[in-house]
Amino acid sequence: MTIDFEAPKPLVNMQTMLQTVAENMMRPTSREMDENEHAIPWDYIEFMHTAMRSMGGAGGLAPVEDKPKEGAEKRPPIGYQKLAVQIEMLAWGDVGYYLITPGGGLGAAAVQAAGTPEQKAKFLARFNDDKPTFAAMCMTEPGAGSDTSAIRARAVLDEKTNEWIINGEKIFVTAGDKSFTEYEKLGKGFIVVWASIDPSAGRAGMRAFVVEAGTPGVKITKLEHKLGIRASDTAAISLVDARVPFENVLGSPTVEKSTTGFKGAMATFDATRPLVAASGLGVARAALEFLKEKLKENGVEIRYGLPRQKLTNIEREVIDMEIMLKSSWLMVLKAVWMADNKKSNALESSMSKVKAGDVTTKVTQKAVEILGPLGYSREFLLEKWFRDAKITDIYEGTGQINRLVVARQILGYTGAELR
Ligand SMILES: Cc1cc2nc3c(=O)[nH]c(=O)nc-3n(C[C@H](O)[C@H](O)[C@H](O)COP(=O)(O)OP(=O)(O)OC[C@H]3O[C@@H](n4cnc5c(N)ncnc54)[C@H](O)[C@@H]3O)c2cc1C
Repeated sequence: MTIDFEAPKPLVNMQTMLQTVAENMMRPTSREMDENEHAIPWDYIEFMHTAMRSMGGAGGLAPVEDKPKEGAEKRPPIGYQKLAVQIEMLAWGDVGYYLITPGGGLGAAAVQAAGTPEQKAKFLARFNDDKPTFAAMCMTEPGAGSDTSAIRARAVLDEKTNEWIINGEKIFVTAGDKSFTEYEKLGKGFIVVWASIDPSAGRAGMRAFVVEAGTPGVKITKLEHKLGIRASDTAAISLVDARVPFENVLGSPTVEKSTTGFKGAMATFDATRPLVAASGLGVARAALEFLKEKLKENGVEIRYGLPRQKLTNIEREVIDMEIMLKSSWLMVLKAVWMADNKKSNALESSMSKVKAGDVTTKVTQKAVEILGPLGYSREFLLEKWFRDAKITDIYEGTGQINRLVVARQILGYTGAELR
């Protein structure tokens, strides 16, 4: 198998379309969306749903299986690569906006990673319906963040009705509101709730449940006010005796002497960490391009061909930022290429996220530093990108946790041996 660094033509066309969206829909309203936290831009949501469907994808960003059309020339699968390219470009426009692009998000990624073929067919098909639809994933709890095996949410089977009864508190759910609240203009979304069916079994007892929008007993209790990605809603959700059909448990409903449920959670993150990395790199590219544009307006052009000792300090810093950005993007490409080719990518996925978390934070910070007042002023979006950047290093595994995952993979230690 070979790795091809040339983006396939359909991907380039999609990138051009998304750049137009980013420039004409996102950037002009970026500041407004940042200031009016949690506002819902229906025009954008409806436009993106239609546009993505017209380009042959699902109605938005969803990890649907990539199969070349019947009779079409044989080519390698590019489903995750396509998502990474789309996400990088949308995040270049505005990462908060990207997080409210309709599609499956983390919820669909969990179905893809932990669901049976029937569940995938059932729950993922709805992203191609007439209305835009969202899905979210609820893992984090007040007492369980980095250590996902500490979750206390509980699911008990009611054998009389063949339903699961779920109780628990979930916090920091990205797109939780749009996925769970029933809005007239949205299709029926869902949240994937991780809970234990047998706390004494530890990780083996963990399962993911699809909880449909509007399920009685489930409430959005809070929308977070945040440093960055303020266009995106981040919800706290409480579940009190919420009833879910038996078949909504993803994968196997029985507790075997295995860690199937926990593996499903980890498989979700293997798939999505490179995509989080891609979103961060979109923000970093926006900051770097803005920096170069402003330097140019002030008569500073980067003289790429010169030996390093003949460059000014600013030129050297800009070149170093470009190196960081490009090398980080290559790590993302490798991780998504592995996912597309069904190779185990736990190491590469976490590595790409660690690197992108650092790069995104450093590049945006350096751009603010070099431009001084121009970087600090709210007249420009750079100060916002600086705030938007930090989340890359926090959600879907913090930098520290992903470093642990990388170390375990390289050294061959288990989670219990290296923590
Ligand atoms: C905006 C936003 C959106 C989010 N979206 C979602 C979502 O959609 N779904 C969801 O389930 N969760 C979501 N999260 C939660 C996110 O994944 C967690 O915040 C993250 O995993 C860290 O968990 P924690 O906040 O409990 O921190 P903790 O686990 O308490 O960690 C605190 C600090 O200690 C460090 N630390 C912890 N353990 C170790 C260790 N063993 N070694 C070294 N350092 C360690 C961490 O790196 C961190 O710096 C979101 C969070 C935010 C802020």
